[in-house]
Amino acid sequence: NNMPIASPLRTQAIVNRYFMHAKKNLGQNFLVDLAVINGIVAAAEVSAGDQVIEIGPGIGSLTEQLLLAGAKVVAYEVDHDLPDILHNELPQKIGDQLLLDKFKLIMKDVLKADFQDDIGTFFDFSKPIKIVANLPYYITTPIIFNLIQSDLDFVSLTLMMQKEVAERLVAHPKSKAYGPLTIAVQTRMNVELAEQVKNTSFMPRPKVDSAVVVLTPLEDRFNISDYDYFDHVVKLSFAQRRKTLSNNLKPIIQDKDEREQVINTLGLDLRVRPEELTIEQFITLAHLVKNHTA
Ligand code: SAM
Repeated sequence: NNMPIASPLRTQAIVNRYFMHAKKNLGQNFLVDLAVINGIVAAAEVSAGDQVIEIGPGIGSLTEQLLLAGAKVVAYEVDHDLPDILHNELPQKIGDQLLLDKFKLIMKDVLKADFQDDIGTFFDFSKPIKIVANLPYYITTPIIFNLIQSDLDFVSLTLMMQKEVAERLVAHPKSKAYGPLTIAVQTRMNVELAEQVKNTSFMPRPKVDSAVVVLTPLEDRFNISDYDYFDHVVKLSFAQRRKTLSNNLKPIIQDKDEREQVINTLGLDLRVRPEELTIEQFITLAHLVKNHTA
C-alpha cells in the first residue's frame, strides 16, 4: 500500500477495516494532509538517526512520516484499540530495518510519563531527543507545562495545538492571551510559530483552527533561581484576572501596606493588573515576595 496514512482515502480505509471511530473524549482528530505533516517534520528538522518522542500517534499518520525520515520513534498512547492498527498499518520495513527496531509504543498517559524509566532501554539519553506531536487538544496546556518542567533534556518541542493556545505562547503583556502559560514558556523557551493549519486538514474536523509551534530551550536563561516558586507566584498573581495584582497576592502577603510596598518597589501602582507586568517584573516580584515571606 503506497498511499500515506495521512491521506483521506487511506485513513477512511483504516477506519472501515477496523470498525473504528474517532474518540472525541481523547481528542482524536487525525491528520489527513501530507503537506501539513511534511511541514511538521521539516519544522522539527527530523533527519536520519534522530530520536523522537511522539505524543498520541493515533493511526500513525505522523509516525509514518517520522519513520520514513529516518527517526527512531517512541510514542505514548492511551487508546487500546490502536496498538494492533499501528503495528499492522505502519511500514513493516524502513530501509533495511524492521519496524520493531525503529518504533516503540508505550501505552500510558503522557502526563504520567517517566521518560528515563519508560524509554531508557530504547533511546540513548546522551544523544539529542526531539518531541513531536499533533497533541490531544483537551490536555494541551498540562502537557506543555509538564514537558517544560520535566528533567528531560530535549532539543526541541514541535507541537500542533489549537490556535488559541499557540497565541498564548507568543503573547505580549497587556493582551488577553498573556498569562501563566505565556510566562512559564517564555522564561524557558524560544517560541516560533511554524505553520497555521485549517481544520480541513483533519478527520474528523476539530471546531478550532490549529497551529504548529516550535519551542527550543533558551540559551540565555533568565535569572530565576527557583522556577517552582516563580511559577507559583505567577499563577497566584493571575488567580483572578479581573482583580488587581495586589488582591491576588493576599494569600502570601496579608498586610495591604506591605503589598503596596512590594508593588511600589516594582515602580507600579497598587491598582496594577497582573497582565500589565512584563516577564522581568514578574521575576523581580518573585524575588521580592520570597524575601518578604522568608
Ligand atoms: N498523531 C495522530 C495524527 O496526527 O493523526 C493523532 C493525533 S490526535 C489529535 C491525538 C492522539 O492523542 C489520539 O490518538 C489520542 O488517543 C491520544 N491521546 C489522548 N490522550 C492522551 C494521553 N493522555 N496520553 C497520550 N496520548 C493521548
